[in-house]
Amino acid sequence: MQNATSPTPLQQLHLDIDHRVGSIRENRPDWQCGKGCDHCCRRLAEVPQLTAAEWALLQEGLAALTADHLQEISQKISALADQPSRPIVCPLLDQTNGACPVYLQRPVACRSYGFYVQRDLGLYCHDIESLVAEGKLADVVWGNHDAIDQRLIGLGESRPLTEWFASSAFVER
Ligand code: SF4
Ligand code: SF4
Repeated sequence: MQNATSPTPLQQLHLDIDHRVGSIRENRPDWQCGKGCDHCCRRLAEVPQLTAAEWALLQEGLAALTADHLQEISQKISALADQPSRPIVCPLLDQTNGACPVYLQRPVACRSYGFYVQRDLGLYCHDIESLVAEGKLADVVWGNHDAIDQRLIGLGESRPLTEWFASSAFVER
């Protein structure tokens, strides 16, 4: 049974990702991921998918934004419905400074991307892929992205951000 101080499954997943990320950063203080490096947020293969637990957390971040900022995000999310082409720019990204306005509440995929790899496919962020190809990251112990996916499946159904947003109180009715 889960007591009052036990982390939720999502919190535990965050902790485990933080541990892996921390260990990589410790050995590589100059790791490229950071504020302003937003290429990954600008070329998403699909609309971000979130479990209910991730959406609940993300809503806390959205609720802290100004009404104007939320309206801007709402318009970008609506525009995605008419944009069949891929990749897409994350509708949450602040494109002026390359920052995530809901960084502390961001989805698991955003936390792990850049530090985790699908072992069989060898998939990386394109920027990091170049460094791997140059042999500059040969000693990095990557996280296992497949394991993250399995744990996300264990959290329940994932739905696109557009769907979660459309059914939320953030949409003007
Ligand atoms: S995953 Fe790639 S593009 Fe994204 S922050 Fe890290 S290095 Fe930059
Ligand atoms: S939620 Fe934040 S970190 Fe994730 S893709 Fe969007 S802007 Fe980037």
